[in-house]
Amino acid sequence: MSKLERFLESLYKKYRTLNSGKLASYIPQLANANPDWFAITVVTTDGKVFTVGDSQENFTIQSISKVFLHGMALEDCGRAALLEKVGVEPTGDPFDSVIRLDENSKRPDNPMVNAGAIATTSLIKGNELTERLNRMLEMFRRYINRDVFIDVSVFMSERATGHRNRALANLLLNFGTIDHNIEEILDLYFQQCSLVVNCQDLAMMAATLANRGIQPITNQQAVQSEYVRDMLSVMHTCGMYNYAGEWAYRVGIPAKSGVSGGIIGVIPERAGIAVFSPLIDQQGNSVRGLRVFEDLSQEFGFHLLDVSMGKCNFADCLESD
Ligand code: GLU
Repeated sequence: MSKLERFLESLYKKYRTLNSGKLASYIPQLANANPDWFAITVVTTDGKVFTVGDSQENFTIQSISKVFLHGMALEDCGRAALLEKVGVEPTGDPFDSVIRLDENSKRPDNPMVNAGAIATTSLIKGNELTERLNRMLEMFRRYINRDVFIDVSVFMSERATGHRNRALANLLLNFGTIDHNIEEILDLYFQQCSLVVNCQDLAMMAATLANRGIQPITNQQAVQSEYVRDMLSVMHTCGMYNYAGEWAYRVGIPAKSGVSGGIIGVIPERAGIAVFSPLIDQQGNSVRGLRVFEDLSQEFGFHLLDVSMGKCNFADCLESD
């Protein structure tokens, strides 16, 4: 067994009984999740998979999709045009804040808050919704390396309850950021949140970003490498809701989380990491996920800015002894 596998096992044992936090409850499908689900997966940039727990359990990706739509919008319209519509500034406010958009910024602060994600979604090219949806699914397929699906029941619930998102879209229309096709843009936004993934898929997607946008198994370019920098920078500063600053300080890994309990983290040139555990804290981050990432960062020296202990030789930790 490798050092990494032993450490993953120990993390799984250490945190599986940590039961603080709550299930997301704004739609029934998330409230019905099993609070015991717990998985940790690491995929290296050369495609080795290390995993413990319920790594094949399906759930909807929720806000983690925002990272990948950001990449797609960059490819579709370029860095300068995207920056005109959406900034790259962390907010410290809740991800679905309406007041911030209306009273402060008028322009979404970054692509990880809902207003920004709705704006990036509006930039996805395609003649009508079906074409844009198909292009989006094809993009996710390149990262995940299997067929991908939307959970229709989650999509319908998101659409039926997404009043704040509808308010944000209306404000964006008022500011001239998006065009009048609000319901189509929102549908594509709700569909991306409803993509079905498991923990291993998420780690594979993160490993693709760690590997300059090249999927480690297929060697296919999932996103142009020049845009990986943009995606990781925004993850690093804005990816963990209004815990992003503390996360950057404590964990130091570009990451994104979602309210269904997933967190992805990218260790450039080395690995992608994903944790899934649906009990989330008040900010929306998986409680076990936060602890697991903190321990992993500490153990393997993953904090990008930590020069004190030198980087461990991660490759050695992957070898069986
Ligand atoms: N579908 C959710 C929303 O737009 C995303 C929640 C999340 O994971 O942040 O409200």
